[in-house]
Amino acid sequence: MSAKIIDGKEIARQIRDELAGEIRKLKEKGIVPGLGVILVGDDPASRSYVTAKERACHEIGIFSDDNRLPANASQTELLALIRKMNEDPRINGILVQLPLPRHLNESEVLLAIDPDKDVDGFHPTNVGRMVVGEKAFLPCTPHGVLQMLVRSGVKIEGAHAVIVGRSNIVGKPLANMLMAKGKMGNATVTVCHTKTKDIGYFTRQADIVIAAAGRPNTVTPDMIREGAVVIDVGVNRIEDATKKAGFSLVGDADFDGCKAKASMITPVPGGVGPMTITMLLYNTVESARRANRIQS
Ligand code: NAP
Repeated sequence: MSAKIIDGKEIARQIRDELAGEIRKLKEKGIVPGLGVILVGDDPASRSYVTAKERACHEIGIFSDDNRLPANASQTELLALIRKMNEDPRINGILVQLPLPRHLNESEVLLAIDPDKDVDGFHPTNVGRMVVGEKAFLPCTPHGVLQMLVRSGVKIEGAHAVIVGRSNIVGKPLANMLMAKGKMGNATVTVCHTKTKDIGYFTRQADIVIAAAGRPNTVTPDMIREGAVVIDVGVNRIEDATKKAGFSLVGDADFDGCKAKASMITPVPGGVGPMTITMLLYNTVESARRANRIQS
């Protein structure tokens, strides 16, 4: 078997086209969705993520309020900017690019964001709403994974999904979403981590294997069953002298090996990655709809 490649770039483009259409309709009602973006310091990776997010906003018609604070900005200064955005009706979503410089208190910063503008879905209020099945902003990467599964025709209901990784931003929320009652859930979920004995024992029973460990070759072909769906969330840099940058990006799964056995697989890059920013745009549009009491 050679797996069908789930093309994250193409699915992300479809969703962005749908969002652009919805934004046009909102604009006819005088509503322009807005995202407040805050970058503290000049870490090159963070700067390029933020630039990509701002560009994506502009491309589909979201207003972005771009703020750069110096690396030595104080906690008070950052909290004041968040408070200002919380009260600004033009801003429907607030994004603070992480990680923050070490002297800043990240959890206090995330708690300061109005949960109704928390389009990253990291605020404990949103996490709680998601867990109990209330309307919540779903965190972008796991929501992107669900969209990829649904839009690729993968049956989630009744499937056994095994997630390798239990972080607060990927593994844990994804487990909650997959087991939730509803059309994108109803799976049976197993979560593995560094203390799991014999991860392969669990992954070999999975209809859907999700690798989110942050380590290359965490999922190898002997760990999956014939016909499984493999979603690779991992992004790892490995040295590669043939590349100008000196490195290549790889996921957490052995792509070539698993591709020969799986029914569907996501590549790295070009898989889950493009979905994350797209779901941030989705949450921003959804927030604008909610603020104006418009049904989706
Ligand atoms: P993280 O916070 O470092 O968490 C990694 C999780 O994987 C932990 O729960 C850890 O277990 C587990 N783990 C690590 N090595 C393992 C192993 N050998 N066997 C079993 N479990 C293992 O990472 P994260 O933020 O969730 O990110 C995971 C990966 O996804 C990273 O490569 C990251 O770059 C990527 N990512 C991609 C996107 C995207 O947009 N494509 C977004 C977010 C993250 P313990 O809890 O026991 O330590």
